[in-house]
Amino acid sequence: KGLKMYFPITAGILRRKVGDVKAVDDVSFDIYEGETLGLVGESGCGKSTCGRVILRLYDPTAGSIRIDGTDITETDSETLRKLRPAMQMVFQDPQASLNPRMTVAAIIGEPLDEHSRLSKAEKLNRIYELMDAVGLNRNFANRYPHEFSGGQRQRIGIARALALNPKFIVCDEPIAALDVSIQAQVVNLLEDLQDRMNLTYLFISHDLSMVRHIADRVAVMYLGRIVELAPRDALYERPMHPYTQALLSAVPEPDPEIETVRKRIILTGDVPSPANPPKGCNFCTRCPKVMDICRAVKPPFREVEPGRYTACHLYEDTTTAGRTGAPEAF
Ligand code: SF4
Ligand code: MG
Repeated sequence: KGLKMYFPITAGILRRKVGDVKAVDDVSFDIYEGETLGLVGESGCGKSTCGRVILRLYDPTAGSIRIDGTDITETDSETLRKLRPAMQMVFQDPQASLNPRMTVAAIIGEPLDEHSRLSKAEKLNRIYELMDAVGLNRNFANRYPHEFSGGQRQRIGIARALALNPKFIVCDEPIAALDVSIQAQVVNLLEDLQDRMNLTYLFISHDLSMVRHIADRVAVMYLGRIVELAPRDALYERPMHPYTQALLSAVPEPDPEIETVRKRIILTGDVPSPANPPKGCNFCTRCPKVMDICRAVKPPFREVEPGRYTACHLYEDTTTAGRTGAPEAF
């Protein structure tokens, strides 16, 4: 809620602070148990940072994070260590996130060493279980990451993330580094594991087609802010925010039954720097529907239809809370 992650910009030999990169700038959303929330947007929009702050890999500049009712925004490192098993991350580049000098068994077993007290035999058993769960051959337990393909390496990363029976996993572009032919396999594995282990995912991706396949709800991020959040079908069939409309206009429609042919919306202008976002709507420098108010006032992120949120002056807050001039007795 109200999450901000600013990184200071410093200059000169005294490293004087001259400003902030507003990587995440006032973001609020829920993720429900057992769902997959897709988080989409162009590279540099702040989606990875958002995923990392939620896991408290960074200390947020402002705002709060609650997991399962527990506020983890300010918890000390010891308490955080105890909560750690419940919240894990699967990284984009399995190559870079796996220690090349460790065997697969050692990589998958590492979280167990830190957080559990298993005997040697129990630990090996658990490692085998995890290898089975992600479809890795047990006979390869003593091999090293470089002996595996990209897809298999991502399976190792997933097994490691599962070692401590997490509830919530941030998947940060988990398939972006993989061959297209392998991507669907890894996505299917993630879905299968979710069903079997009742996992909740934040699925970060710039691949809108893949997100349409895997997500229950989708949040769209632009320049550090969430501009739209909606149930998957609603978002893809009837995007509300002009930025979402532009993003989706570039994606081929997979369902030939749908007759509406989307016109490709070409955006002009560069994405402003997150160190210096526009005063009004962050999208006002590129929006095809920009109005005067957009340059002056930041549109609030609000519910405009039940379950649909957007930050755009084109839409009015239709929920009771935001209704102006509602009867006193309401
Ligand atoms: Fe476009 Fe204005 Fe809506 Fe921003 S608030 S997306 S500039 S119409
Ligand atoms: Mg990223």
